[in-house]
Parts: sequence; structure tokens; C-alpha cells
Amino acid sequence: MPTKTTSTDSTDYDYLIIGCGIAGATLAHQAINRGLRVLVLHEPSLSHATNVAAGIINPIFGKRFSELWNRHELIADALAFYRALEHTFAQPFLYEHTQVRLFTSADERDYWFAKRAAMQPSVQYVSEHEIADQLQGAIEGAFGGIRIPDTYHVELDATLTALQTWLVAQGALREEVVEYSHICLKPTTVEYKGITARTIVCCEGWKALQNPLLSWLPLVPAKGELLTIRLNEAQTALPYLVQQGVFLLPLPDGLVRVGATYEWDELDEIPTEAARNNLSTQAAAVLRLPFSIVRHDAAVRPASDDRKPIVGLHPTHPRCAVVNGLGAKGVVFAPFVADALLDAIEYGSPIDETLDIQRFAHLAL
Ligand SMILES: Cc1cc2nc3c(=O)[nH]c(=O)nc-3n(C[C@H](O)[C@H](O)[C@H](O)COP(=O)(O)OP(=O)(O)OC[C@H]3O[C@@H](n4cnc5c(N)ncnc54)[C@H](O)[C@@H]3O)c2cc1C
Repeated sequence: MPTKTTSTDSTDYDYLIIGCGIAGATLAHQAINRGLRVLVLHEPSLSHATNVAAGIINPIFGKRFSELWNRHELIADALAFYRALEHTFAQPFLYEHTQVRLFTSADERDYWFAKRAAMQPSVQYVSEHEIADQLQGAIEGAFGGIRIPDTYHVELDATLTALQTWLVAQGALREEVVEYSHICLKPTTVEYKGITARTIVCCEGWKALQNPLLSWLPLVPAKGELLTIRLNEAQTALPYLVQQGVFLLPLPDGLVRVGATYEWDELDEIPTEAARNNLSTQAAAVLRLPFSIVRHDAAVRPASDDRKPIVGLHPTHPRCAVVNGLGAKGVVFAPFVADALLDAIEYGSPIDETLDIQRFAHLAL
């Protein structure tokens, strides 16, 4: 293990973190647990991705049945992190699911069969008859589907509330808008409105587009909307997480989350009638049961143009670090990238090049 870097240290904090979504909150938690001094500044009204997210950890996704990058390590890390939080806060956050992904067409089914040999053996075909049996007639599945194990969801809003409450109790979280013009990067410290820290870490989600230090980051934010529905037949519970274009995620309270849309042009966090109709039509095409909509949310995912997180020290400002680009996979990536960044800064450990901000260093201003 490389040796720990020495602290400078006439600073107030080791880490001044901007943003307290899942990226900033997880980083702050892991840093404090390592004995580091942390202050997080956030203004909750600026970005809601973490509060809105469905929280799914999905090992196989997309039209081409792609496998999650570094699947086993990432999921193991995430499970350990969220289970430890459950233990600390004596509250459930993490739920395991069997996922049934339904083929949308005979072509998609044929594509999967052609690719099957390269797929994980744990992913099994389920016929339309099995689907009808197992989902008690509640789901349309004319082309059959696949059963995907190792699927989870984290109740992110509750997790974030618990983390933020804990950070406040540590004196490590303050609500305020960070004004970028007041950030002063010096050779060994960073100063912000009378606070000194060793490193400032930018975790603002899609709002990093407004940070002049990061205006070059190749972020491609994607607005997403979600519905929460109630199945109207009182005794009906959805036994599986079902995917078919949209996902239907059964929640612990018996409600079902339906999502999500992708929109790259209109970037705001306002729910739209068009997305509501779209999601509700797609849910009705899969579900054979009547439902009513009880909630509708919207937020913006901080995606990067290569769909991987962006983590590490700013290529030209070594007192500034970044955790961003969590895209549609913040739940599974946040614990892994928080530890990767802390190991890099504290011990000089390399960050995996797939995630390292250095892959975009040629764009840096
Ligand atoms: C509809 C939808 C569904 C999703 N579903 C899933 C899913 O199933 N699974 C999954 O893993 N991910 C999902 N995601 C993605 C997930 O939400 C993100 O990956 C994750 O929440 C990003 O976290 P973050 O901390 O980077 O950003 P955010 O949660 O947006 O947090 C950013 C923080 O920075 C603060 N901030 C910004 N600028 C400033 C400033 N100048 N001063 C002070 N504070 C500032 C904000 O207030 C906020 O606290 C979904 C997203 C959406 C929109």
C-alpha cells in the first residue's frame, strides 16, 4: 500500500465538498470514517437527482443486454456500503429483487438467444407461459423474457436523509449556495469565504455545468421522469421487478415505481404532462391491472459523454477534485468512486483509467 500523504495542516478541513447528493454525501461519510475533517456545503433546491432516483442496481441493461462495468466488485462494494449504513442507522435501505426483463419483440428475443453463449449463466430464459404463471397473469409477456438475478434497489431518498442528518450532527453539513467566484485555489490549500481546506471536491451533479472550474467537463445531462403508482386491486402485489422499455419496481410499501424517461434538450426538474402520459401508457401496455398515479417526479441525471463517472484531481488545479458523471448509475458507483478518490488523494493510489478524470485532461481549461 502506498504511504499516506502528509497533511499541510493549518487548514480548517481536509475536504470542503460542494453538493450533498449521493456523490457528496457518500464521499463525506467515507472521509469522516477515515478520521478526515470534512465540511459539505449544499443548496438542496439546486438539484434533486438523488431524491428522485428509483435507486435500482441493474447488472444487465440496455438494448444490447450490456453488463455493468466491473460488475462484481462494484455491486459487492455497494452492498457492503448500504448494509453498513442500515446497521449504523438501524433502518432498511437496500432491497434485493428478482428482475424479469420481458422481450419487446421476437427480434429482441432472437438477439438475446444469439448472444446467450456470452451471457452470464445465471441469466435464464423464461417463457411466456412461465411469465403468466409467475406474475399471476398481471403482466403481458408475449415474447417471453429473461430472469436477471443480482438486482437491487436502494431507497435513496431515505438513505440521503439519514446521511444528511448524520452529517449535520457531526457539524459537517451546511445549507448554502457555493459562489464559485469566492473559491481561491492556492498551491497547498483552498480558501472559500474564510474557510481553508486541503482539497475542494466538486459533487454538484448536473449543476457542475455552472462551475467555471469544470465548464470543460464533457457532461451530457439527461432529464428523467418517474411515476409512483398504486395497483387498484387491493391484494395485488407485484412479485418481481419487471422491465419492458419501462421498469416497474415494487416498493416496500406496496406501491410501484415506473420509469424512466430520457430527455436531453429541456433540462429542468419540472414534471411534464407528456412524460406522465408516456410512462402511464407504457405501464398500461405491460400491466394487466388497473392503477392510479400517486406521484410524479422529475430531475436531471449527471451523465458523461462516455457514460462513466468522472473522478479525480482537476488536471490543472491540484487542490480541486471532482466526483461527477454518475449518470443513471449513481447508486452502484457512489461508494466505489468515493473510496477511489480518497485512496488517490490520501495514498497516491491510481484511479482506474475508465473512471479517471485524466481521460479528459486534453479538454481541461
Ligand atoms: C428519473 C431518474 C431516475 C433515476 N434512477 C436511477 C436508478 O434507478 N439507479 C441509479 O443508480 N441512479 C438513478 N438515477 C441517477 C441518480 O439519480 C444519479 O446518478 C445521482 O443521484 C447523482 O448524484 P449526484 O450527487 O452526483 O447529484 P445530485 O443528486 O444532483 O446532487 C447534487 C448536489 O449538489 C448541490 N449543488 C449543486 N450546485 C451547488 C452549488 N453551487 N452550491 C451548493 N450546492 C450545490 C445540489 O443541491 C445537490 O445537493 C436516476 C435519475 C433520475 C433523474
